[in-house]
Amino acid sequence: MSFVREVALDSDLVALLALQERDQAVAALEAELNSFDPELAQLDANLARAESELAGARKGVEEAGNRRVELEGKIEGYRLMQERRRQRLEWVKGAKEAATLMAELDLARSVLAKEEAEWMRSADKVEEAEKRAAEVERALEEARTAQAPRREQIAALRAECTERLNAARQEREETAKRVKKPILTRYDRIRKGNTPLAMYPLKGSACGHCYTAVPIHRRQEIQGGRGVTSCEGCGVLVYDPGT
Ligand SMILES: [Zn+2]
Repeated sequence: MSFVREVALDSDLVALLALQERDQAVAALEAELNSFDPELAQLDANLARAESELAGARKGVEEAGNRRVELEGKIEGYRLMQERRRQRLEWVKGAKEAATLMAELDLARSVLAKEEAEWMRSADKVEEAEKRAAEVERALEEARTAQAPRREQIAALRAECTERLNAARQEREETAKRVKKPILTRYDRIRKGNTPLAMYPLKGSACGHCYTAVPIHRRQEIQGGRGVTSCEGCGVLVYDPGT
């Protein structure tokens, strides 16, 4: 069947149809290669979510640590002031002054006790934040480990697909060499447009893509597979597939 057809068709048309077949093979492989993208994007998104959670947890550790250091500084300052009050107490002479200092010492002691309690809580918060960060980090590691086999599988499938795609592109280039330059230029230009293919067979007396009628003199030109004509409706190359 295909032998009969090749004999019937003009050699330019045969070369063009072969080229179109190669282009379809390339397009199918490109689609196959791209078909992994959504899954890869999903895997990436899952990791990104865990990573941003980890960044948040680490920030929590840092903030809790800063708070603890801040309280330590404050407590250190209070202690120093208390120490000075105690020293002054040893030297005061008047009873009134001593009573005032004693009252100050008492007050400062209770403030210090509150700050120390606050420091204890801040130390607990650091510990909690560190625990949380460690958990999130472990979850991220687990997610990476869980993804690894599928990622490897996809990488292998893509590598194999890329190999086939490169071979198909090579074949396409070889096949393109058999098409005469002006017609190849036309063909390539149509392919860059928005029709799925550059060439369509006649369907009855109309273009096989947009179904615009092909004028009779044009149909006669290509009758029996003698080359191609442009569709006036959509611009694709129309050919007579013969019978
Ligand atoms: Zn058309």
